[in-house]
Amino acid sequence: MRYEGTVYRPPSEAHSLILQATIGCSYNRCTYCAMYIDKRFRQRSREDLLTDMAMARESYGPGRIRRVFLADGDALIMRTPRLLEILGDLREQFPNFERASVYASPQALLSKSVEEIAELKQAGLSVYYAGPETGHPLVMERIAKGVTPDEFAEGARRVVEAGAKLSVILLLGVGGTELSQAHAVASARWVNAVQPRFVSTLTLVPVPGTPIHDDVEQGRLVLPDPRGILRELRTMVSHFELDGAIFRSNHASNALPIGGTLPKDKNRIVAVLDSVIDDDSIPLRPPPSPHAL
Ligand code: SF4
Repeated sequence: MRYEGTVYRPPSEAHSLILQATIGCSYNRCTYCAMYIDKRFRQRSREDLLTDMAMARESYGPGRIRRVFLADGDALIMRTPRLLEILGDLREQFPNFERASVYASPQALLSKSVEEIAELKQAGLSVYYAGPETGHPLVMERIAKGVTPDEFAEGARRVVEAGAKLSVILLLGVGGTELSQAHAVASARWVNAVQPRFVSTLTLVPVPGTPIHDDVEQGRLVLPDPRGILRELRTMVSHFELDGAIFRSNHASNALPIGGTLPKDKNRIVAVLDSVIDDDSIPLRPPPSPHAL
């Protein structure tokens, strides 16, 4: 396969073919995100993607490709007819193709109607990874998502309404010590209003070269310590009112790997967090280097 620059994918797409339908991110302004700062956004041609598919057929065998992640950061921003064409090519090239997935920026989500998302799902694009990071209006403004929490929720709900799977990512620590608890409550309420199938939390690890790294270095954002992060997570989980969702907080950036099915495991998760928060002798995972993520 041919890839341009560093390619990122959600952890759960580890066994998917990564098809770089676009390069970079069309938005590229979130203050904590360094993934595509060195790339200029563009869509790749059909010819290029067909060549990549032919290479994947050759390398892995056509029957072995079942799942495909459409990279880079914002492939959903492509016009719906072009996405449908890519999905058609995938079905043609890979006889066992089951489904595609994609990162979904709020701008891309809001550019699609429920009907378009349903049509894309029918064609195989059935999993969307969206990162509001917070449901708190001031925090979302500070990290420059470019929309309000209500606008992001409107876009995210279209995925749920269309019957596709929505995976939501929240970012612990992003409100700093000042807004830690408010960020936790607002984020849980945001998630409750959207009802995604999957919810995961990562912990903010400021990457040099990003505006949020400068904020931390210059003292404008004071990050909670690891137990403060767990207190934030405890508040978030205790406010979740989810009707059948998989919750994960087990990324390398998380001090304590934990997860379960909600609402079934909510009380257990809160109890584990309480016991760890209250016992300083329990070691926590140290924050990773930004380069290890
Ligand atoms: S929309 Fe996603 S990929 Fe683009 S800058 Fe924001 S976090 Fe990064």
